[in-house]
Amino acid sequence: MDARLEAIRDTVLARNPGEAEFHQAVVEVFESLGPVHDRHPEFLDAAILERLCEPERQIIFRVPWTDDAGRVQINRGFRVEFNSALGPYKGGLRFHPSVYLGIVKFLGFEQIFKNALTGMPIGGGKGGSDFDPRGRSDAEVMRFCQSFMTELYRHIGEYTDVPAGDIGVGGREIGYLFGQYKRITNRYESGVLTGKGISWGGSLVRPEATGFGTVIFTQEMLKTRGASFDGQRVVVSGSGNVAINAIAKARSLGATVVACSDSSGYIVDEAGIDVGLLREVKEVERGRLKDYAVRRPGVSYVDGGSVWDVDATVALPCATQNELDGGAAARLVRGGLLAVGEGANMPSTRDAVAVFQEAGVLFGPGKAANAGGVATSALEMQQNASRDSWSFEHTEERLTDIMVGIHHRCAATADEYGEPGNYVLGANIGGFVKVAEAMLAQGLI
Ligand code: GLU
Repeated sequence: MDARLEAIRDTVLARNPGEAEFHQAVVEVFESLGPVHDRHPEFLDAAILERLCEPERQIIFRVPWTDDAGRVQINRGFRVEFNSALGPYKGGLRFHPSVYLGIVKFLGFEQIFKNALTGMPIGGGKGGSDFDPRGRSDAEVMRFCQSFMTELYRHIGEYTDVPAGDIGVGGREIGYLFGQYKRITNRYESGVLTGKGISWGGSLVRPEATGFGTVIFTQEMLKTRGASFDGQRVVVSGSGNVAINAIAKARSLGATVVACSDSSGYIVDEAGIDVGLLREVKEVERGRLKDYAVRRPGVSYVDGGSVWDVDATVALPCATQNELDGGAAARLVRGGLLAVGEGANMPSTRDAVAVFQEAGVLFGPGKAANAGGVATSALEMQQNASRDSWSFEHTEERLTDIMVGIHHRCAATADEYGEPGNYVLGANIGGFVKVAEAMLAQGLI
């Protein structure tokens, strides 16, 4: 790493003790930014990096609620408003027991660069709670969401901060959150949240956007080697919204998706995963992957273990952070891997990224490859602002253009900085320069 940046990194790490995921995200970005500071010493003079690593505002709050048995439950809520140089803070809410400040900050930090890469006018933020929706009734989830919003509402707004979903927060949760915001404020402010239902201000394609976008970005990477998804053998991790839509899109482009996973195990379906059945099990019944295996002949379910033991030519990690380590990456490379598109945020460890890059595997980092979700959220905000709603075809076309544009920006930036094909460098520098220039223009704030 560049010596000038090392000192800044050390201060950031010391100032934020115990936040391993945030440290990882910061270090990965800093490793790309030396050459930018050679060309732009003004960024150093204005302490852009020091400011970028310090969120503009961090909100932590108590979320009290009662479960169905009448017992009082207490969770912790977070919203980290990281950077508003390019627009209102924008980023999802994650409800998962692993959520703590370090997770929210890594996600918020990544979101700054991701959102900049989309070319849309959105800053970076993230939030969530250590609440675990798994096994909770609809009524419990509603009471939790109402309590969460009873504090959060005072911090958000269509011109201030616009949350959306992430792990554990989908259409159901956004509905309860929006309802409570509307009730408290007495405003039908559609643009305060994205990921809404289609009849109440949502956008077509938003549910599909992250998974579709990941595949579109990966397809663009494959094209640089004269390849495409057609005929690829694909393994996807996860089986939530991102994974399911990535599977659907990869299939539509001619790939065979042979495996996907949940937190208990994974399925191998050599005939190609049946997206209809997967949606039924996961989205309608909120069930587990082993239920898919029971219903479809010829499918094996592996309890525990790693889905990355299954050979693939294209890997789409769509589960969660640090789910694919150096050992798994090496196995995948030995199995003939050509490309990786990250549908999740930071799913590959730094060791894994190094293995992919050394082996010459096309590697699309999450902040570029999975930006289709937040980009379509920005399209939802546009529709809300103009009180309009666009067709599926038009919205999907916009998403495709945005993903092709992000790919182009990352590739062109990597070329410009003398590292062709290095999408990590391209994404980090491409996102950073845009934010840094805006911060410089807006003065010391
Ligand atoms: N949580 C998603 C992400 O990681 C989407 C955020 C949004 O739509 O605001 O980018």
